[in-house]
Amino acid sequence: MSLNAVLDVDLSALAHNFHALEAVAGAPAHPVVKADAYGLGAAPVAKALLAEGARIFFVARVTEGEVLRAALGAEPVIYVLDGCPPGAATALRASGLRPVLNQPGQIADWLGSGGGPCGLQIDTGMNRLGLRPEDAPGPFAGLELVMSHLACADEPSHPMNRRQRDAFAAVATRYPGAVRSFANSGGVFLGPDFAFDAVRPGVSLYGGGPEGRPDDRLKAVAIFSAPVLQVREVPAGESVGYSRGFVADRPVRVATVGAGYADGVLRSYSPRGQVVLNGETRPLLGRVSMDVCAVDVTGLDVAVGDRAELFGPRRRIDDQASAAGTIAYELQTSVTARVPRRYR
Ligand SMILES: *Cc1c(COP(=O)(O)O)cnc(C)c1O
Repeated sequence: MSLNAVLDVDLSALAHNFHALEAVAGAPAHPVVKADAYGLGAAPVAKALLAEGARIFFVARVTEGEVLRAALGAEPVIYVLDGCPPGAATALRASGLRPVLNQPGQIADWLGSGGGPCGLQIDTGMNRLGLRPEDAPGPFAGLELVMSHLACADEPSHPMNRRQRDAFAAVATRYPGAVRSFANSGGVFLGPDFAFDAVRPGVSLYGGGPEGRPDDRLKAVAIFSAPVLQVREVPAGESVGYSRGFVADRPVRVATVGAGYADGVLRSYSPRGQVVLNGETRPLLGRVSMDVCAVDVTGLDVAVGDRAELFGPRRRIDDQASAAGTIAYELQTSVTARVPRRYR
């Protein structure tokens, strides 16, 4: 019996999602494992995906790429979405990383320092990273991948999706030898003409739905749970937690659960957050504190050591994220270093 909050990572569910995404896309999936694989651990996640056939990975930072290269060995291809920041060419090359070049200065730096395999990002409307289509350079040596990124992929009917797709298709014709990579998780589900040569899913590999709500085709990979530390009977009229965040209008049984905002249980989980405890979905009570939160277990048989699921197969992360006023991405990357990761 573990008395810690734990983040369990179900690697067989991860494998299921990887294959499900490739099947829907009809194209290879190049996993996005930035931000430590969305908080789950980039090395074990990428190794598991390697065993399932993934060969090309994306991270955001050069430093993330260096860590992943050390974990995976020389073989897999690793693209860095930040591209080639000033002074980074040497580090990129030393670790065999491929920058996704996203502005003229980066192209000049990379080619001027010797060049080599790289990608190119074209901005088709997000106005975040990448060159505008009218500024897209001609093809150059080493260019292996051309990509762009959708702004509204979680809203399938948004007209921006088709506009971006068509702009990307047009500009990609300039780079006949390069792999065309366009769709993130949401984009995978927009239809076959969004897949191009390879897709680039992140959140849906980890079980987050492409439209910000649970999707039956995907399994929960991250299971965030914490133990009951104490069970108490609170009489009517008394309050629970800081600032009397909950006042009992009837006698309530309260379980104090050992996970708080220092573990990644955002304070915004209350008042709408819910956990699953002994098979029942139960609301949080009052304020989340640093190390614990309180759960209404009135009428439920609960003992010290029973585990509450904050998100996982019985409390899908998209639902918990909606309750907390955020998205699965933020919830999953908010689980802090205090919480051990366990792989199964
Ligand atoms: C994070 C990211 C992805 C993955 O997005 P998901 O919505 O998690 O699938 C793909 N491409 C780029 C450029 C990204 O920044």
